[in-house]
Amino acid sequence: MHTRAAILVETKHPLVVDKIKIPELGSGQVLVKIKYSGVCHTQLLEVGGHRGEDPFLPHCLGHEGSGIVEDIGKDVNKVKTGDHVILSWIKGSGANVPGTVYEWNGKKVNAGAITTFNDYAVISENRLTVIPKEFPLKKAALLGCAVPTGLGTIFNTAKPTPGESLAVFGCGGIGLCAVQGAAIAGCVPIIAIDIHEQKLEKAKQMGAKHVIHAKKQDPVEALKDLCALDYAIEASGSPVAMRQAVQSVRPQGGLAVIIGNAHHGTEFSIDPKEFNKGKKILGTWGGDNDPDIHYPRYCNLSQHGQLDLETLTTKTYSLDHIDQALEDLKQGAVLRPLIEM
Ligand SMILES: [Zn+2]
Repeated sequence: MHTRAAILVETKHPLVVDKIKIPELGSGQVLVKIKYSGVCHTQLLEVGGHRGEDPFLPHCLGHEGSGIVEDIGKDVNKVKTGDHVILSWIKGSGANVPGTVYEWNGKKVNAGAITTFNDYAVISENRLTVIPKEFPLKKAALLGCAVPTGLGTIFNTAKPTPGESLAVFGCGGIGLCAVQGAAIAGCVPIIAIDIHEQKLEKAKQMGAKHVIHAKKQDPVEALKDLCALDYAIEASGSPVAMRQAVQSVRPQGGLAVIIGNAHHGTEFSIDPKEFNKGKKILGTWGGDNDPDIHYPRYCNLSQHGQLDLETLTTKTYSLDHIDQALEDLKQGAVLRPLIEM
Protein backbone atom coordinates (compact mmCIF):
# COMPACT_ATOMS: atom_id res chain seq x y z
CA MET A 1 0.00 0.00 0.00
CA HIS A 2 1.15 3.52 -0.83
CA THR A 3 0.28 6.94 0.59
CA ARG A 4 0.93 10.54 -0.34
CA ALA A 5 3.15 12.38 2.09
CA ALA A 6 4.98 15.69 2.33
CA ILE A 7 8.67 14.84 2.63
CA LEU A 8 11.45 17.06 3.93
CA VAL A 9 14.30 16.14 1.58
CA GLU A 10 16.52 19.13 2.25
CA THR A 11 16.14 21.89 4.85
CA LYS A 12 15.38 25.43 3.56
CA HIS A 13 13.73 23.87 0.49
CA PRO A 14 10.05 23.27 -0.37
CA LEU A 15 8.61 19.97 0.84
CA VAL A 16 8.19 17.23 -1.77
CA VAL A 17 4.68 15.77 -1.94
CA ASP A 18 4.89 12.28 -3.40
CA LYS A 19 3.77 8.67 -3.00
CA ILE A 20 5.67 6.52 -0.53
CA LYS A 21 5.30 2.84 0.32
CA ILE A 22 3.86 1.99 3.72
CA PRO A 23 5.73 -0.80 5.55
CA GLU A 24 3.92 -3.71 7.18
CA LEU A 25 2.66 -2.85 10.64
CA GLY A 26 4.91 -3.97 13.46
CA SER A 27 3.96 -4.74 17.04
CA GLY A 28 2.38 -1.71 18.72
CA GLN A 29 1.86 0.18 15.47
CA VAL A 30 -1.38 1.54 14.05
CA LEU A 31 -2.26 2.59 10.50
CA VAL A 32 -4.35 5.78 10.61
CA LYS A 33 -6.23 7.45 7.76
CA ILE A 34 -5.42 11.07 8.54
CA LYS A 35 -8.30 13.52 8.18
CA TYR A 36 -6.71 16.75 9.38
CA SER A 37 -3.22 17.78 10.39
CA GLY A 38 -2.25 20.90 12.28
CA VAL A 39 0.86 22.85 11.28
CA CYS A 40 2.91 24.40 14.06
CA HIS A 41 6.13 26.29 14.59
CA THR A 42 8.04 23.09 15.25
CA GLN A 43 7.66 22.17 11.57
CA LEU A 44 8.64 25.71 10.53
CA LEU A 45 11.84 25.29 12.55
CA GLU A 46 12.48 21.83 11.06
CA VAL A 47 11.92 22.92 7.45
CA GLY A 48 13.92 26.10 7.95
CA GLY A 49 16.85 24.17 9.44
CA HIS A 50 16.52 26.06 12.74
CA ARG A 51 16.73 22.98 14.97
CA GLY A 52 20.37 22.29 14.23
CA GLU A 53 21.77 19.36 12.26
CA ASP A 54 18.99 17.05 10.95
CA PRO A 55 20.33 13.47 10.87
CA PHE A 56 16.99 11.98 9.76
CA LEU A 57 16.71 13.47 6.25
CA PRO A 58 14.76 12.65 4.17
CA HIS A 59 11.83 12.41 6.56
CA CYS A 60 8.11 12.87 7.05
CA LEU A 61 6.69 15.62 9.26
CA GLY A 62 3.80 16.75 11.44
CA HIS A 63 2.93 16.03 15.04
CA GLU A 64 -0.72 16.88 15.63
CA GLY A 65 -3.75 15.62 13.78
CA SER A 66 -6.93 13.60 13.74
CA GLY A 67 -8.04 10.56 11.83
CA ILE A 68 -9.65 7.14 11.71
CA VAL A 69 -7.93 3.87 12.57
CA GLU A 70 -7.53 1.82 9.39
CA ASP A 71 -5.61 -1.19 10.72
CA ILE A 72 -3.74 -2.30 13.84
CA GLY A 73 -0.55 -4.29 14.36
CA LYS A 74 -0.23 -7.06 16.91
CA ASP A 75 -0.33 -6.27 20.63
CA VAL A 76 -2.34 -3.09 20.05
CA ASN A 77 -5.10 -2.88 22.67
CA LYS A 78 -5.87 0.80 23.00
CA VAL A 79 -7.56 1.35 19.62
CA LYS A 80 -9.49 -0.71 17.08
CA THR A 81 -10.32 -0.33 13.39
CA GLY A 82 -12.85 2.46 12.83
CA ASP A 83 -12.01 4.38 16.02
CA HIS A 84 -11.73 8.16 15.72
CA VAL A 85 -8.45 9.31 17.19
CA ILE A 86 -6.36 12.33 18.10
CA LEU A 87 -2.74 12.03 16.97
CA SER A 88 -0.35 13.77 19.34
CA TRP A 89 3.40 13.98 19.82
CA ILE A 90 2.81 13.77 23.58
CA LYS A 91 3.08 10.21 24.88
CA GLY A 92 0.13 8.46 26.49
CA SER A 93 -0.38 4.83 27.46
CA GLY A 94 0.28 1.93 25.09
CA ALA A 95 3.24 0.64 23.12
CA ASN A 96 6.04 3.12 22.47
CA VAL A 97 7.41 2.33 18.99
CA PRO A 98 10.20 4.75 18.09
CA GLY A 99 10.00 5.17 14.32
CA THR A 100 8.80 4.00 10.93
CA VAL A 101 10.76 3.77 7.70
CA TYR A 102 8.80 4.27 4.47
CA GLU A 103 10.12 3.59 0.98
CA TRP A 104 10.29 6.21 -1.74
CA ASN A 105 11.58 5.20 -5.20
CA GLY A 106 13.88 2.62 -3.64
CA LYS A 107 15.16 5.06 -0.98
CA LYS A 108 14.38 5.15 2.72
CA VAL A 109 12.22 7.89 4.22
CA ASN A 110 12.33 8.21 7.99
CA ALA A 111 9.39 9.02 10.19
CA GLY A 112 9.12 9.33 13.94
CA ALA A 113 6.62 7.61 16.19
CA ILE A 114 4.09 10.04 14.71
CA THR A 115 3.85 12.00 11.46
CA THR A 116 0.73 13.68 10.14
CA PHE A 117 1.54 15.30 6.77
CA ASN A 118 0.39 12.04 5.13
CA ASP A 119 -2.89 10.63 3.79
CA TYR A 120 -2.13 7.48 5.78
CA ALA A 121 0.48 7.17 8.51
CA VAL A 122 1.93 4.47 10.74
CA ILE A 123 1.64 5.71 14.31
CA SER A 124 2.92 4.35 17.62
CA GLU A 125 -0.02 3.23 19.79
CA ASN A 126 0.92 5.62 22.63
CA ARG A 127 0.52 8.71 20.41
CA LEU A 128 -3.20 8.01 19.90
CA THR A 129 -6.22 8.94 22.00
CA VAL A 130 -9.71 7.68 21.10
CA ILE A 131 -12.41 10.35 20.99
CA PRO A 132 -16.20 10.10 20.66
CA LYS A 133 -17.34 9.72 17.02
CA GLU A 134 -19.60 12.78 17.35
CA PHE A 135 -16.64 15.06 18.14
CA PRO A 136 -15.67 16.92 14.89
CA LEU A 137 -12.36 15.66 13.50
CA LYS A 138 -11.53 19.15 12.29
CA LYS A 139 -11.47 20.46 15.86
CA ALA A 140 -9.86 17.27 17.15
CA ALA A 141 -6.75 17.95 15.04
CA LEU A 142 -5.77 20.79 17.39
CA LEU A 143 -6.00 18.53 20.40
CA GLY A 144 -2.64 16.99 19.44
CA CYS A 145 -0.41 20.00 20.20
CA ALA A 146 -1.92 23.51 20.37
CA VAL A 147 -4.76 22.78 22.79
CA PRO A 148 -2.97 20.45 25.23
CA THR A 149 0.10 22.70 25.29
CA GLY A 150 -1.87 25.92 25.81
CA LEU A 151 -4.46 24.60 28.26
CA GLY A 152 -2.08 22.20 30.00
CA THR A 153 0.41 24.99 30.68
CA ILE A 154 -2.33 26.74 32.63
CA PHE A 155 -3.98 23.74 34.33
CA ASN A 156 -0.95 21.48 34.93
CA THR A 157 2.12 23.73 34.94
CA ALA A 158 1.21 27.23 36.18
CA LYS A 159 -1.92 26.18 38.15
CA PRO A 160 -3.27 29.68 38.91
CA THR A 161 -6.17 30.09 41.32
CA PRO A 162 -9.24 32.23 40.55
CA GLY A 163 -8.58 35.93 40.90
CA GLU A 164 -4.89 35.80 40.03
CA SER A 165 -3.56 37.83 37.10
CA LEU A 166 -1.96 36.28 34.02
CA ALA A 167 -0.32 37.56 30.84
CA VAL A 168 0.31 35.59 27.63
CA PHE A 169 3.20 36.61 25.35
CA GLY A 170 2.48 35.44 21.78
CA CYS A 171 -1.07 34.80 20.58
CA GLY A 172 -0.70 32.03 18.00
CA GLY A 173 -2.59 28.76 18.39
CA ILE A 174 -0.89 27.81 21.66
CA GLY A 175 -1.02 31.30 23.16
CA LEU A 176 -4.73 31.69 22.41
CA CYS A 177 -5.40 28.32 24.04
CA ALA A 178 -3.47 29.57 27.07
CA VAL A 179 -5.67 32.71 27.13
CA GLN A 180 -8.75 30.49 27.06
CA GLY A 181 -7.31 28.23 29.76
CA ALA A 182 -6.65 31.27 31.96
CA ALA A 183 -10.26 32.41 31.47
CA ILE A 184 -11.54 28.94 32.43
CA ALA A 185 -9.26 28.98 35.49
CA GLY A 186 -10.78 32.30 36.60
CA CYS A 187 -7.71 34.51 36.10
CA VAL A 188 -8.33 38.28 36.21
CA PRO A 189 -7.16 40.30 34.53
CA ILE A 190 -5.86 38.35 31.51
CA ILE A 191 -3.49 40.36 29.33
CA ALA A 192 -2.41 39.35 25.82
CA ILE A 193 0.77 40.55 24.12
CA ASP A 194 1.59 40.19 20.42
CA ILE A 195 2.90 42.11 17.42
CA HIS A 196 -0.09 41.34 15.16
CA GLU A 197 -3.26 43.40 15.61
CA GLN A 198 -5.57 40.61 14.39
CA LYS A 199 -4.14 38.13 16.91
CA LEU A 200 -4.76 40.62 19.72
CA GLU A 201 -8.37 40.93 18.53
CA LYS A 202 -8.76 37.14 18.75
CA ALA A 203 -7.23 37.18 22.23
CA LYS A 204 -9.91 39.67 23.33
CA GLN A 205 -12.63 37.39 21.95
CA MET A 206 -11.15 34.54 23.95
CA GLY A 207 -11.05 36.28 27.29
CA ALA A 208 -8.19 38.82 27.39
CA LYS A 209 -9.27 42.01 29.16
CA HIS A 210 -6.26 44.04 28.01
CA VAL A 211 -4.01 43.73 24.98
CA ILE A 212 -0.51 45.12 24.43
CA HIS A 213 1.03 45.62 20.99
CA ALA A 214 4.69 44.86 21.71
CA LYS A 215 5.96 47.03 18.85
CA LYS A 216 4.03 50.06 20.06
CA GLN A 217 4.51 49.72 23.84
CA ASP A 218 7.11 48.17 26.12
CA PRO A 219 5.17 45.17 27.49
CA VAL A 220 7.09 45.13 30.80
CA GLU A 221 6.21 48.74 31.59
CA ALA A 222 2.66 48.41 30.30
CA LEU A 223 2.06 45.32 32.46
CA LYS A 224 3.44 47.07 35.56
CA ASP A 225 0.88 49.83 35.03
CA LEU A 226 -1.95 47.28 34.88
CA CYS A 227 -1.30 45.01 37.87
CA ALA A 228 1.18 43.15 40.06
CA LEU A 229 1.38 40.25 37.61
CA ASP A 230 1.14 36.76 39.12
CA TYR A 231 1.86 34.69 35.96
CA ALA A 232 3.49 35.29 32.57
CA ILE A 233 3.16 32.60 29.91
CA GLU A 234 5.61 32.91 27.01
CA ALA A 235 4.30 31.27 23.82
CA SER A 236 6.12 33.16 21.09
CA GLY A 237 9.51 31.46 20.78
CA SER A 238 11.20 34.85 20.96
CA PRO A 239 14.12 35.15 23.42
CA VAL A 240 13.17 38.83 23.91
CA ALA A 241 9.67 37.81 25.02
CA MET A 242 11.15 35.15 27.31
CA ARG A 243 13.18 37.76 29.16
CA GLN A 244 10.22 40.15 29.27
CA ALA A 245 8.05 37.39 30.74
CA VAL A 246 10.47 37.00 33.65
CA GLN A 247 10.84 40.77 34.08
CA SER A 248 7.12 41.41 34.15
CA VAL A 249 5.99 39.03 36.91
CA ARG A 250 5.74 40.38 40.45
CA PRO A 251 8.51 39.93 43.04
CA GLN A 252 7.98 37.32 45.79
CA GLY A 253 6.21 34.56 43.98
CA GLY A 254 5.58 35.68 40.39
CA LEU A 255 5.97 32.79 37.95
CA ALA A 256 7.04 32.83 34.29
CA VAL A 257 6.43 29.70 32.20
CA ILE A 258 8.37 29.37 28.95
CA ILE A 259 6.62 27.36 26.20
CA GLY A 260 8.03 28.81 22.97
CA ASN A 261 10.45 26.99 20.70
CA ALA A 262 13.41 29.23 19.92
CA HIS A 263 15.84 28.83 17.03
CA HIS A 264 18.71 26.39 17.63
CA GLY A 265 21.61 28.12 19.34
CA THR A 266 19.71 31.15 20.68
CA GLU A 267 20.08 32.18 24.31
CA PHE A 268 18.55 34.79 26.54
CA SER A 269 19.98 36.53 29.55
CA ILE A 270 18.34 37.53 32.80
CA ASP A 271 19.54 39.81 35.56
CA PRO A 272 20.14 37.34 38.44
CA LYS A 273 18.51 39.85 40.81
CA GLU A 274 15.18 38.70 39.36
CA PHE A 275 15.72 35.46 41.30
CA ASN A 276 16.70 37.31 44.48
CA LYS A 277 13.34 39.04 44.20
CA GLY A 278 11.72 35.64 44.51
CA LYS A 279 10.57 35.21 40.92
CA LYS A 280 10.35 31.73 39.42
CA ILE A 281 10.71 30.26 35.94
CA LEU A 282 9.33 26.94 34.75
CA GLY A 283 9.58 25.10 31.47
CA THR A 284 6.82 22.79 30.32
CA TRP A 285 6.75 19.53 28.38
CA GLY A 286 3.87 20.47 26.08
CA GLY A 287 1.67 21.46 28.99
CA ASP A 288 2.62 18.46 31.14
CA ASN A 289 -0.39 16.42 30.03
CA ASP A 290 -1.38 12.83 30.43
CA PRO A 291 -3.25 12.47 27.11
CA ASP A 292 -5.43 9.59 28.34
CA ILE A 293 -6.74 11.73 31.20
CA HIS A 294 -6.57 15.28 29.89
CA TYR A 295 -7.55 15.04 26.18
CA PRO A 296 -11.09 13.78 26.88
CA ARG A 297 -11.49 16.72 29.30
CA TYR A 298 -10.44 19.16 26.59
CA CYS A 299 -13.00 17.58 24.22
CA ASN A 300 -15.56 18.03 26.95
CA LEU A 301 -14.72 21.73 27.35
CA SER A 302 -15.14 22.22 23.60
CA GLN A 303 -18.41 20.30 23.42
CA HIS A 304 -19.86 22.36 26.25
CA GLY A 305 -18.91 25.69 24.73
CA GLN A 306 -16.13 26.56 27.19
CA LEU A 307 -13.36 26.23 24.61
CA ASP A 308 -13.51 27.97 21.23
CA LEU A 309 -11.72 25.87 18.61
CA GLU A 310 -13.71 27.17 15.64
CA THR A 311 -11.88 30.50 15.58
CA LEU A 312 -8.58 28.63 15.51
CA THR A 313 -9.50 26.30 12.65
CA THR A 314 -10.80 28.71 10.03
CA LYS A 315 -8.22 28.15 7.31
CA THR A 316 -7.60 24.77 5.65
CA TYR A 317 -5.19 23.80 2.88
CA SER A 318 -4.72 20.71 0.73
CA LEU A 319 -1.53 18.66 1.12
CA ASP A 320 -0.38 20.03 -2.25
CA HIS A 321 -0.41 23.53 -0.74
CA ILE A 322 1.51 22.65 2.42
CA ASP A 323 4.32 25.09 1.65
CA GLN A 324 1.75 27.91 1.48
CA ALA A 325 0.40 26.82 4.88
CA LEU A 326 3.91 26.97 6.35
CA GLU A 327 4.54 30.38 4.79
CA ASP A 328 1.23 31.79 6.06
CA LEU A 329 2.04 30.54 9.57
CA LYS A 330 5.50 32.11 9.38
CA GLN A 331 4.04 35.47 8.31
CA GLY A 332 1.38 35.39 11.04
CA ALA A 333 -1.32 35.45 8.33
CA VAL A 334 -3.12 32.45 9.83
CA LEU A 335 -3.51 31.31 13.45
CA ARG A 336 -3.30 27.56 13.00
CA PRO A 337 -3.24 26.23 9.43
CA LEU A 338 -4.99 22.89 9.01
CA ILE A 339 -4.17 20.45 6.24
CA GLU A 340 -7.28 18.61 5.06
CA MET A 341 -6.31 15.23 3.60
ZN1 LIG B 1 3.34 21.48 17.70
